[in-house]
This record gives sequence, structure tokens and C-alpha cells, in this order.
Amino acid sequence: MTDDLRELYQEVILDHSKRPRNFHGMAEANRSAVGHNPLCGDRVTVFVRVDGDVVRDVSFEGAGCSISTASASMMTDALKGKTTAEAGALFARFHQLVTADPSKSATAAAELGKLAVFAGVHEFPMRVKCASLAWHTLKAALEGGDKASTE
Ligand code: ZN
Repeated sequence: MTDDLRELYQEVILDHSKRPRNFHGMAEANRSAVGHNPLCGDRVTVFVRVDGDVVRDVSFEGAGCSISTASASMMTDALKGKTTAEAGALFARFHQLVTADPSKSATAAAELGKLAVFAGVHEFPMRVKCASLAWHTLKAALEGGDKASTE
């Protein structure tokens, strides 16, 4: 990764952590789950409004480090209007991106669009759980669970 790209990625993550998008509860939600990352202390509640198999709306609340907040913020932005199957596929690619060597997950990065800013996280194993917490929580919510933990 070039320094320019790294800097751009850091800016995007900082922006989303300072001004998280879709950061609120949701009265119309028909799925929700609470996620906890004990290693870092991140907590997140993800709210989802699913109609048929389409994710109409996603929001989140919680408190955590900048990586977990930015990841939740960008996840909610990315998922609106997707089918639940597409959301699952996106999670699989995102997980691949943050756990694998980016040189081997170039396809994942290309398909993830803006979410590719988290590619650098793979160098910091502690941070992988921060970046994926919201996604694990979303998965639990979509599968009808109400709790998720990164452990
Ligand atoms: Zn964290």
C-alpha cells in the first residue's frame, strides 16, 4: 500500500469515527442485535429494517474505538437496499479483507468499494475484531439472534 493511499484511508476512517452515519436507534427496526468486543471494550447495537429479503434501513448505536465506530458507520451506508444474501456476501468479503493479506484479497478489495479502507487493519490482529464487530452483530440480527461477540 502506498503512503498516499494509507493517508486517504486514515482520513476516511477518522471522518466516519468523528461523524458516524446512521448513528441512532430505529423504531421501525424488525431485527436488532447487541455486539461486544471484550478485547477492546467496543459495544454496538445494530438495528435493521428488513422487508421481504431487502435491507431497507440499517442504523447503529454504541460506544467504541474509532475503528469500530467507523466500520459500523460505513457498514450501514453500504447495506441499505441490498438483499440479505448480498449483505452476507459483503460480510464474507469484508472478513476476508481484514483477515487476509491484501495482496491475496485484491478481488475482495475491488468488490468492497469504500469499505476497502479497512484493508490496513489486517496488519493489526487486535483491530480486526474492532473492524468486524458491527458485521458480526449484523449477521446475528439477520439470522434472528440478539447477541454477538467477537470471542
Ligand atoms: Zn475497538
